[in-house]
Amino acid sequence: MSVQNVLSLIKEKSIEWVDFRFVDLLGKAHHISVPAVEVDESTFANGVAFDGSSIQGFKGIEESDMVMMPDTESAYIDAFTQHPTLIIMCNIFTPDGERYDRDPRGIAQKAEEYMQNAGVGTAAYFAPESEFFIFDEVRYETGINKSYFEVDSEEAFWNTGRKEEGGNLGFKVGHKGGYVPVAPTDTQQDIRSEMCRLMMEAGLRIERHHHEVATAGQGEINFRFDTLTKTADNLMKYKYIIHNVARQWGKVATFMPKPLFGDNGSGMHVHQSIFNGDTPLFYEKGGYANLSEMALHYIGGILYHAPALIAITNPSTNSFKRLVPGYEAPVNLVFSKGNRSAAVRIPVAAVTPKGCRIEFRTPDSTANPYLAFAAMLMAGLDGIKKQIDPSKLGYGPFDKNIYELSSAELSEIRSVPASLDEALDALQADSEFLTEGGVFSQDFINNYIELKRSEAKAVSIRIHPHEYSLYFDC
Ligand code: GLU
Ligand code: MG
Ligand code: MG
Repeated sequence: MSVQNVLSLIKEKSIEWVDFRFVDLLGKAHHISVPAVEVDESTFANGVAFDGSSIQGFKGIEESDMVMMPDTESAYIDAFTQHPTLIIMCNIFTPDGERYDRDPRGIAQKAEEYMQNAGVGTAAYFAPESEFFIFDEVRYETGINKSYFEVDSEEAFWNTGRKEEGGNLGFKVGHKGGYVPVAPTDTQQDIRSEMCRLMMEAGLRIERHHHEVATAGQGEINFRFDTLTKTADNLMKYKYIIHNVARQWGKVATFMPKPLFGDNGSGMHVHQSIFNGDTPLFYEKGGYANLSEMALHYIGGILYHAPALIAITNPSTNSFKRLVPGYEAPVNLVFSKGNRSAAVRIPVAAVTPKGCRIEFRTPDSTANPYLAFAAMLMAGLDGIKKQIDPSKLGYGPFDKNIYELSSAELSEIRSVPASLDEALDALQADSEFLTEGGVFSQDFINNYIELKRSEAKAVSIRIHPHEYSLYFDC
């Protein structure tokens, strides 16, 4: 959409406010609203000023006066305001007109440019599958729900979950039995449909929605792939709509990777492929899962850099409580067709040459999508550049169920880092693939590591409820 189109849309839809948004280092959106009557060509040429020093992760900049430069391509109407409001995503610039090197959206665009300049392809496509839970309420002091949090055994957990005030009407979701049962077992059909309706109004192409495997109200909505920065914008839109529809319905939605002990967590698997114009570069008939050499090298790069990459794709202490065996989350750094326990899966069902892609299953939605997609692309491009053959490094293909391997067999394959600190150690030791071509700056990486270390520390010094059951009566 051009500037003129946006100005016409403002008139046509009687827009009262234009809401300029940017995304911080942690992936949270921030906004400043300007009366629509004050918005004209000059707003788009000069941008909107804001104080960068008050934003987490942007601290340390000499100049606190920063500028949001609106990207009119990203405009959509806010479904949640009483006063008609147009949302526009922005890039962040310094007052001197330089790109701000800690702006995640700018980093995402630089990664796309880097790929094009390297002559690898014209577009990298991304499609995230961002899972979430919808709860009736959250009690921070004891966890999501006291009864879930306080029990130790799986049996006690499920017995507690089945008690209901006012009588039990049956149709409960069994343990890990949430995958696509119809109503009345699935109680969230309408709320997901409403989320999808608003997403479609906001310009997303919805492919499907469904209940996910976990017992307590887990859902997933899939929207169509697009190029890297556009997909990150779409994911911000997706989360904004899910959070706000849940709030309208008197509920709360969370993308926290592992809110419930003993049940499946929420991942954000990311499907990815590279095209040159109309030609899919990841497809070659006859190879393993019809993958081209380029696709295999891309996988090699992702798996080789995975420990460092995971510091960006799984950037919370809670992320590592999801990456454990038994819950369809990946734990081993191998690739496979169809195998959901592998970090990289190659979907093979109903796949056309254009649909040929790889799925990195490790990420979760605590990731900043701009940084996560950019980092995955940089890892994959490094694999292509260095022709990293994943089979030669022992990364697969691995078509057995990895959860069922003996410990001797398991010791042969690399695992995901066990904690945020471990992943940050790996990023500290392996960040050159990100700084290639100036896509991520070293300052950005150092600042990121420092911020994330402080989160890990804040969690580790707090007393965990389970420590009482282990140690209180010692
Ligand atoms: N919820 C699972 C995860 O944590 C994934 C389930 C699926 O395959 O969609 O990754
Ligand atoms: Mg899923
Ligand atoms: Mg998936």
